[in-house]
Amino acid sequence: MSDTEDSVREIRINPIVPSESVLVATARGMRPRDAEERIERKAEAHVEKCPFCTGNEDKTPPTILAVPDEQHWQIRIVENLYPVLGDDRNAAGINFGLQQAIEGYGRHEVIIDHNNHGIAIHEMEVAHLQTLFQTYRGRMKQLYDSDERLHYVLIFKNFGAAAGASIKHTHSQIIAMPVVPENVYNEITHSRNYYLKHHQCIFCAMIDEALTFEATIYDRNSGEIRRRIDVGQYVIERGEKFIAIKPFASRYEWEVHILPLQHQSDFINSADEDMEDFARVLKRTMKRLDHVIGGAQYNFFLHSQPHGTACADCAPSYHWHLEICPRTSIPTGFELGSGLFVSTISPEDAAAQLRAVEPD
Ligand SMILES: [Zn+2]
Ligand SMILES: [Zn+2]
Ligand SMILES: [Zn+2]
Repeated sequence: MSDTEDSVREIRINPIVPSESVLVATARGMRPRDAEERIERKAEAHVEKCPFCTGNEDKTPPTILAVPDEQHWQIRIVENLYPVLGDDRNAAGINFGLQQAIEGYGRHEVIIDHNNHGIAIHEMEVAHLQTLFQTYRGRMKQLYDSDERLHYVLIFKNFGAAAGASIKHTHSQIIAMPVVPENVYNEITHSRNYYLKHHQCIFCAMIDEALTFEATIYDRNSGEIRRRIDVGQYVIERGEKFIAIKPFASRYEWEVHILPLQHQSDFINSADEDMEDFARVLKRTMKRLDHVIGGAQYNFFLHSQPHGTACADCAPSYHWHLEICPRTSIPTGFELGSGLFVSTISPEDAAAQLRAVEPD
């Protein structure tokens, strides 16, 4: 396959958040990015000095929740030692002119995903992953119920130092905050606008398109074929109730999103039996990613409907999802300065490589 014939160079607009666009430039000369380091994974089950390993429970802040119990825990939630948000402080925020601030009230907690130190997500049992996501869901609900000022609970995982993980033991984090973060706010706003115009959820429309779309796009001047879109081209994995999609305009080259096939806006409302299918789709997707870009540092995060006034009307227009963002290259000044991310692999090509893996 020569670069000149099959290279793509186009700016793709993210249909959910149009301001988050990506420059897909696959020609050989268009590689402005340095490769991000891959992690040499030491699959140690137990590390004596690790504060998250069993036997060292006294080295972390107190346990908030242990599953199934403190004695035989497999998943443990603890307070973050260095919280980015915390309890109310007495000094009220001083607002002056253009310097408006909201008190940094909130919660910041760590979820120790597994009692096995070095286990990767794709190596965990489906039943364990199901329990993990049910634990996320349970804690999310408790936090929303605990204080009505908490408008958003963000759950995310950092894997690798470049992705922000400072402790090697597998863990994720929960941050409950009094504001709706910008990325979610943008998705909420655009999907609401789409809904008002088309009476349909844009995420549902995207899933339908991923499952059924077939088209050939010709160049208007030369009449040559510019791109062929095949059925299921962007589908990485399909479960009974969940689908993993490679977005057409994703910022990260190997980014994959997992969404419920049936419309659902709030992750809190997902049923236990659905979580089993979700766990299977996640495990298989992570296995595919590990085959193709093994050892890559990554983040994943859950986007779900905010609580409170910001999104009181968006149950029909918003659709919860998990975004998995592998960090295979370092963003450049061009990307940070312009906000336009460069993808040197076409999403179609990345999807094809991920689909070619046999995850069983
Ligand atoms: Zn450990
Ligand atoms: Zn939907
Ligand atoms: Zn999202």
